Amino acid sequence: MQVRSLTVLQNWDCHSCGECCRSYRVPVTDAERARIEAQGWANDPELKGQTLFERRKGETYLAHKPDGACVFLGPDKLCRIHAAHGSLAKPLACRVYPILLVPAGDHWNLGLRFECPSAASNKGTSLTSHLGTAREFAAALEAGPAKGAEGAAPPPLQGKQFLPWSDLARIATAVSKLLADLTDPFERRWRRVLFLVSTLRKAKFDGGGDQKKTVTGGRLSEMLHVLSEASEDEVPDEATELKPPGWTGRTVFRQLAAVYARKDHGTERGPALGNPFARLWSAVRFASGRGRVPRVHAALSDAVRFADTERPLPELSEASEDLLERWHRVKVESLQFCGPTNFGLPVWAGLESLALTFPIAMWLARLFAAGGMSPDAAVARGARIADDNFGFNPLLGSARQKFALRMLSTRGELPRLVAWYGRTTAAAE
Ligand code: SF4
Repeated sequence: MQVRSLTVLQNWDCHSCGECCRSYRVPVTDAERARIEAQGWANDPELKGQTLFERRKGETYLAHKPDGACVFLGPDKLCRIHAAHGSLAKPLACRVYPILLVPAGDHWNLGLRFECPSAASNKGTSLTSHLGTAREFAAALEAGPAKGAEGAAPPPLQGKQFLPWSDLARIATAVSKLLADLTDPFERRWRRVLFLVSTLRKAKFDGGGDQKKTVTGGRLSEMLHVLSEASEDEVPDEATELKPPGWTGRTVFRQLAAVYARKDHGTERGPALGNPFARLWSAVRFASGRGRVPRVHAALSDAVRFADTERPLPELSEASEDLLERWHRVKVESLQFCGPTNFGLPVWAGLESLALTFPIAMWLARLFAAGGMSPDAAVARGARIADDNFGFNPLLGSARQKFALRMLSTRGELPRLVAWYGRTTAAAE
């Protein structure tokens, strides 16, 4: 299958910061395990006697050192396997990260994980320049776990409503265009997208059985264009024109924020997640939303309080708005937000789940800023943590979280959450 790049300008190169090797559990296949074992690490003076692999729920992973880093990560922040045997000797997951390949019918879309600091800060060469490497990964995936991705049915819009892949690309283009509209602050761009989604949720695309009335192809593009234009008039200009989120909206949002904020493994494991009692106590504190925020992630300061999340950040700098825009346009254009790369969510729900990562990132950013980070660094950290979970944290794929997302959507809480946590002091004055 071909790999297609995106229209959004995004750069990336690996700068060997080693953060991914300290953050993730890396799955390995039996063949990869055998290959690594044959590299002779049992006789390496640094690794002799150490456990190199661990089994969890029937799967094999690279083992971790007591501080949470991969057992193969050297003190120079470089991978020992890579240094001794080259990139091809590493597990595929290490070689692919942070590039993502999203199945889209007869091709893969190129995607990117923004938890990687180089991706978030747009450092390196154009993502398009990695297409050759991405094609190699695609071939490896097609020969292995992604067998059958070719020709897979597109995810539904909702229920049993389907459009072909080409129309999903049209929807992604329209949404990406709204997210790129520099005449609006980033939070209003998302409110316009949510208007589009809520209107399209009521639309019929099959023409009631009349082929001539089917909304597909050029007719769909026209409809998306008209609705995007209408959103300019229909969506309030200012975040302050919207009511704050209601009690239910805030409570559901906070428990979702707890899922996003908690880090269960790696060197940034939350100190407040040390034992079952501490985990329960953290959950209670998130439910009440009062007092100090439990340190469910090591990057959170000890002294931040839930009240800090209610205070807007100063107006976002161009750099922060640029990061948020690149991040979400990559997620939209690659189609990572729906289907198999986002727990099987249909298109509209997938877009709503992506919209929610904006207030989540800003909620986290407010905490980091209250802990002493600069606003730009706080937004970048919030976005990276939100993206670390998006489409990957299995808790977000649970029936409970899908129900929570649906509830926020049907109660009209999503635009309010976007406006409330996305507003800045300039908008709040
Ligand atoms: S094997 Fe190498 S690249 Fe992969 S996580 Fe470990 S140190 Fe990092």
